[in-house]
Amino acid sequence: MHNKSLTQLAADLVAKRVSSVELTQHFLNRIEQQEILNAFITVDPGFSLAQAREADQRIQQGDKTALTGIPIAHKDIFCTKGMLTTCGSHILSNFVSPYDATVIDRLNQNGAVILGKTNMDEFAMGSSNETSHYGAVKNPWDHTTVPGGSSGGSAAAVAARIAPAATGTDTGGSIRQPAAFCGVTGFKPSYGQVSRFGMVAFASSLDQGGPIARSAEDAALLLNVIAGFDARDSTSVQRQTPDFVNEIGGDIEGLRIGLPVQFFGEGLDSDVEGIVREALREYEKLGATLIDIDLPNSALCVPCYYVLAPSEASSNLARYDGVRYGYRASGYSDLIDMYMKTRAEGFGDEVKRRIMIGTYALSAGYYDAYYLKAQKLRRLIAQDFAHAFERCDVIMGPTTPTTAFAIGAKTDDPIAMYLNDIYTISVNLAGLPGISIPAGLDNTGKPVGLQIIGQYFDDARVLNVAHRFQMTTDWHQRAPSRVQP
Ligand code: GLN
Repeated sequence: MHNKSLTQLAADLVAKRVSSVELTQHFLNRIEQQEILNAFITVDPGFSLAQAREADQRIQQGDKTALTGIPIAHKDIFCTKGMLTTCGSHILSNFVSPYDATVIDRLNQNGAVILGKTNMDEFAMGSSNETSHYGAVKNPWDHTTVPGGSSGGSAAAVAARIAPAATGTDTGGSIRQPAAFCGVTGFKPSYGQVSRFGMVAFASSLDQGGPIARSAEDAALLLNVIAGFDARDSTSVQRQTPDFVNEIGGDIEGLRIGLPVQFFGEGLDSDVEGIVREALREYEKLGATLIDIDLPNSALCVPCYYVLAPSEASSNLARYDGVRYGYRASGYSDLIDMYMKTRAEGFGDEVKRRIMIGTYALSAGYYDAYYLKAQKLRRLIAQDFAHAFERCDVIMGPTTPTTAFAIGAKTDDPIAMYLNDIYTISVNLAGLPGISIPAGLDNTGKPVGLQIIGQYFDDARVLNVAHRFQMTTDWHQRAPSRVQP
C-alpha cells in the first residue's frame, strides 16, 4: 500500500479497496515502526483518524476530489489549527496556531488528512536538518548520513514510505536539496505560485512552499490543490493556474536544455557529474538538444543569499519576544531581561548567527555596503537567467555537488554547510521554478538528484520535463533497501 502513487491510492479509496481510516492507520503504524528516523515532530493519531473518518464519509457521499482521504505529512513550518507548529524551534515549542496556513486550509477543504508535522532545521535555516531543536533526522538510505534540509523530515518520510507525499518549503534549496539526498521528487514553484499565508516566515522574498513526492505526477496532483492566488498573501500572483496534471504527458521533442558551465565545474563530485550526464543523454534520446550556457554571476549567489536571507530573517524573527505566544523564559527581572532571556534560551546557535549577520547588514552605515549591494547583485543574477532563457527552454544540472554527507560532518563549519546550496540558491534569488528528481545512485548506493529549472511561471513545463524522464526510467521508484515492499 505504501508504495502506491497518489493516483493509485485515490483509485483504491473510490473503489473501496481501502478506507481512509485504514490507509491513515497504515501510515501511522509505519511512522511508529521507523521512529528511529526522527522524521516527525508531532504525530496525533486521534486528530488524523478523525479527519480520515470525515473523508470516508465524503467518499461515501460521492463528494470527493483527487486527494480526499489521502494522508499527507506537513513540514512543521505550516500553521495547523489544533496541532503544534514548532518550526523546529524551542521558542515555538508550545505554539498551537489559531488558524490554518492557506496550504493546509486548501488540503483540508479537499478532504486530505494531516498525517503529522515533520522535522526540519530550526526556522528552515540549514541544509542537513541538524539545527532542529528536536534532533537530527536520519537519511533512510543510510542512517549515518543526513537527509538534507531544511525540509529533511518531509523528504525522509516520503523516501521511507512512511508518508505518501509531503509539503516542504524552499528559501535557498530546502525542498530540492533534501529531495536529492533522499531520492525523491521535490518541486519549488515560482515565487508567488503558492500562498505563504500561515507559513512561518524565514526570508519572505525567497520562501516558497511546494510538494515533496515520489514522482512529478504526484507533485503535480498536490500542486493542483495548493497553488493559486490568495488575497491573504500580498506576494501571491494573480493569474490563471493551469491544471498541472493535465499539462504533463506531452512529448519533449525539440526541447532546448541549457547547461550552465558554472554548474559542472570545481567542487562537483565526479560520480554525481557522471550520473547527471547520463540523465542528460536520456533526454537527448527523448528528442532534446543540449546547449552550453553561461550564468556569469553564479559564484556570487551564496554570498548574496547570505546577506539577504539573514537580513530578512533578523527582521522576521523580531516577533519572537515571549510576550504574545511561544516560549517565555522564567526568572527575569524586568521586560528587557525577559526579552533577552527568552531569545537567548529559545533560539539555537544557527538562528542566532543569522540574526546577528542580518542585524549587522541592515544597520546604519552598513546597509549600503551589504544589503543594498546584495540587492543589486540579486538583480544581476536574475538577468543572467533571463539571458540564458533566450537560448533554452529549461536549465539542467546537479541539484547538489555531492550526495548525502555524514551526520556531524559539517556542523562546525557553516561555510562548508552553506556551499551545499550552490546550485539551488540562485533559483530562489530569481524567483524561478525548480525541481529535483532522482537520477541514479552513486558508488556507495546513495541517491543523486537532477535539477531542472524553468522560466518564471513555467512550472507546468518543468513538471512535464521531469515526468517525461520518469516515464522512461525507474530511479524515482527505487526505495532504500530497508523499506519492505
Ligand atoms: N540551506 C539554506 C539555508 O540554510 C536554505 C534553507 C532553505 O531553503 N530554507 O538558508
